[in-house]
Amino acid sequence: MAEKDIPCSCPVCASRQCRPFAQTDHRRILACRDCGHVFAGLYSRDELRRQYAQRYYDTKDDPRIDAWIQANRRVWRGLCQAIGTCIAQPRSLLDIGAGTGGFLLAFHEYSPTTVLAAIESSSQARDALREKMPQVAFVADDAEGLDSVTERFHVITLLQTLEHVEDPRRLLRSVHDHLEADGLLLLTVPNRWSYRSLLKGMRDEFNFANPTHLHFFSGRILRRLLSETGFVRARRLRSMGGSNVTGPGQLPQWLLRVVGLSAELRFLAWRPLPVAARSLRAIACNQPVRILSR
Ligand SMILES: [Zn+2]
Repeated sequence: MAEKDIPCSCPVCASRQCRPFAQTDHRRILACRDCGHVFAGLYSRDELRRQYAQRYYDTKDDPRIDAWIQANRRVWRGLCQAIGTCIAQPRSLLDIGAGTGGFLLAFHEYSPTTVLAAIESSSQARDALREKMPQVAFVADDAEGLDSVTERFHVITLLQTLEHVEDPRRLLRSVHDHLEADGLLLLTVPNRWSYRSLLKGMRDEFNFANPTHLHFFSGRILRRLLSETGFVRARRLRSMGGSNVTGPGQLPQWLLRVVGLSAELRFLAWRPLPVAARSLRAIACNQPVRILSR
């Protein structure tokens, strides 16, 4: 262990060689010397709880809930379309960290036949969403509770959620295990290498300056985690639009996405089919059409 290293295990590669990166509010941010992941190695759970209550929802009628839903309608719609390009009408969808429920409301409009489920740790947000969408099933109280859920889902979404959990590898493994074979994950996180972070550093409210964020992901680290937790065909979304930016501003945003400097990273990844099912599908696809049509 180098002289100034902090005795802490990297949540991505389990290396014990983590150097101090920054001290900010209640979090001591570390950087792994082996894989480069940046994360809150030490933090106050009490302060985290206090920050969640203060920054998010006080009551189920908190006006910030509806304001947030309205302000991000274009984002929700863009995310629905990203799923729709892969699966036109998913049988079921679980949104982990559903928050205000803005995305689930939009998805119900987009695909009314999809059976919807949610996990949300704020009881105030859960109550607000139950009033708006009584058909949504709450399958666990928080992301860690996913382990004990017995159902599987056609699509699972983790929208701006993975940066909040203590153990992202464990959650991604559990998400993988709760997808149907050939099921789809849509994952979004703040980009550690975004133009905002490069300009503002530790003052970037979307990233390091949010005291509830415990991880600061790069595209490279996300790809590694997705691959090591069993996902295949992981793809970073780079298409234009699908955000609050409208008009000519969409062009620079698209360019930032192309070069990997966008504020948010969006990934699609799949749970693979079992080997036997893949073989059967390959055989079926190779059969001549005239034989299949008899
Ligand atoms: Zn590491």
